[in-house]
Amino acid sequence: MIIVLLGPPASGKGTQAALLRDRYGFYHFDTGKVLRQEAATGSELGQQIASYINRGELVPIEIIRALIGKFIREMGEGRIMFDGFPRNLDQARVLGEGLADVERRLDHALYLNLDRSELMSRIINRRVCDKCGTIYNLVSAPPKSDMLCDRDSGNLVQRADDTEEVFARRLEVYFEQTVPVLDYYRERRLLREIPAEQPISELAASIGALLGLEEHAPA
Ligand code: AMP
Repeated sequence: MIIVLLGPPASGKGTQAALLRDRYGFYHFDTGKVLRQEAATGSELGQQIASYINRGELVPIEIIRALIGKFIREMGEGRIMFDGFPRNLDQARVLGEGLADVERRLDHALYLNLDRSELMSRIINRRVCDKCGTIYNLVSAPPKSDMLCDRDSGNLVQRADDTEEVFARRLEVYFEQTVPVLDYYRERRLLREIPAEQPISELAASIGALLGLEEHAPA
């Protein structure tokens, strides 16, 4: 099964992706994380990527095409989840073509729908473990111990692009460029919409039910 996870920034895609991975055995391709890792290397490509991320703009399609193309050619047969991709119509076409080349196709486009007013407060309170990437919310899902990760005691940090100013631009980009992707998948009868204000664990269970998934037996 191949799915994409869609929704505005801070709708809970990253958190749900981690749960879907653990409960249902999805391989999680996190586009933003892969891009941030390349940016952190300081390579020429990395510096170019960072200049887009730091402004809240989308990284150009040529870079995304190369990244996704490589992943698709190397991916296994199991459950695959694209998170943070596709972000515009060009990317949706790149995905369709890339999958067709390896005789696979998309099964579901899962849309986490959350009211705009909720998003900013989620971003301001979001913290991420600098070791394992686990996501916390200081109000609704705080760590057990102050500013340390429950899993590995890594430091909880704020992402550089989680400022009010950059987030406002990321939201604009979402409404201009990513919302048309919802219509693209709706027309192809692939869009599965789900209200995302439910508590984290219930939302993951609703997604499992919506997609008809069996829980993945722990190894
Ligand atoms: P995210 O972690 O999904 O919130 O993404 C953080 C940033 O990475 C975005 O604001 C973009 O600058 C960049 N990014 C992530 N995914 C994509 C994508 N599919 N296409 C272009 N840029 C992306």
